[in-house]
Amino acid sequence: MDVYLANPRGFCAGVDLAVDIVELAIQRYGAPVYVKHQIVHNPKVVADVESMGAITVENVDEVPEGSVVVFSAHGSPPSDYQIARERDLTVLDATCPLVTRVHNEAKKYSREGKKIVLVGHVGHQEVIGTTGQTEMELVDERREWSLPDWGEDVEVAVLTQTTLSIRDTAAAVEKIKKLHPNAIVRNDICYATTNRQAAAIELAEMTELVLVIGAQNSSNCNQLKAVAINKGVPAHLIIGPEELDRSWLKGITKVGITSGASTPEKQVRAVIEAIAPENVYRVGAGEENMTFTIPRGLRDLIGDGARRSKDEPNPDDDS
Ligand code: SF4
Repeated sequence: MDVYLANPRGFCAGVDLAVDIVELAIQRYGAPVYVKHQIVHNPKVVADVESMGAITVENVDEVPEGSVVVFSAHGSPPSDYQIARERDLTVLDATCPLVTRVHNEAKKYSREGKKIVLVGHVGHQEVIGTTGQTEMELVDERREWSLPDWGEDVEVAVLTQTTLSIRDTAAAVEKIKKLHPNAIVRNDICYATTNRQAAAIELAEMTELVLVIGAQNSSNCNQLKAVAINKGVPAHLIIGPEELDRSWLKGITKVGITSGASTPEKQVRAVIEAIAPENVYRVGAGEENMTFTIPRGLRDLIGDGARRSKDEPNPDDDS
């Protein structure tokens, strides 16, 4: 049996940055450092940072007063920053800059008096953060949806969650454009999601089975699985070799493997070792050279001298 390994796969620049921020925070402030929501949607990464001294909570009001809290890569609504101020927390904001850009777009269009439609998944942490920025309508393309009757003259701007299926999002945007032909449409699906889905399509075209390594609550992992299934190839999302069902491999000679933006490479390697293929071939466009540096305000906070949460937490620039 041969393994075909998607390239690129795994950790994106935003996840790298978020995990770095938690590690640096623990070094700077000592344990415990609280993390609001899973730092990334991967239980093994969460367990790793917790073993270093992080404590994951779902709500800011669970963080003891005066503590240090890291806000996850998915982004947070302004109400979370407000609660942090009230509790005198030191906030280290690990929101991915590409998510912050969507927040800034939403605020800009709102200031311009446009109606905003967000294509995204109900209940996803990123969507909770984005819908908190200003008033907007949410379109979840997996469900029945409708928009209010805004009339023809209203200006509409369409934003998207960063980790959606390119195919399904395009279909939803097409429907919105039928209702509002002049709508401004931003493509907010990020480079990491786009590149991983393109590589997964290639993978599905040359293999008989696709294994996506990652967590069940990872949006971009689920989209990779959907990409393979849409290509007519059976696909499974597993966290590691412990979830590998050997019966899937019966009669298969070519297995495709990929992983989402929240999956560390060691989880992929563990699955390949469990399969023990004769050959491993790489498939896809290749390496990414994207990195995000820690914003200056955050460097100050982690480095010399604490800036308290009453300072502006979420700079309103297009970083
Ligand atoms: S998947 Fe995209 S938006 Fe999300 S953290 Fe990674 S780079 Fe940022």
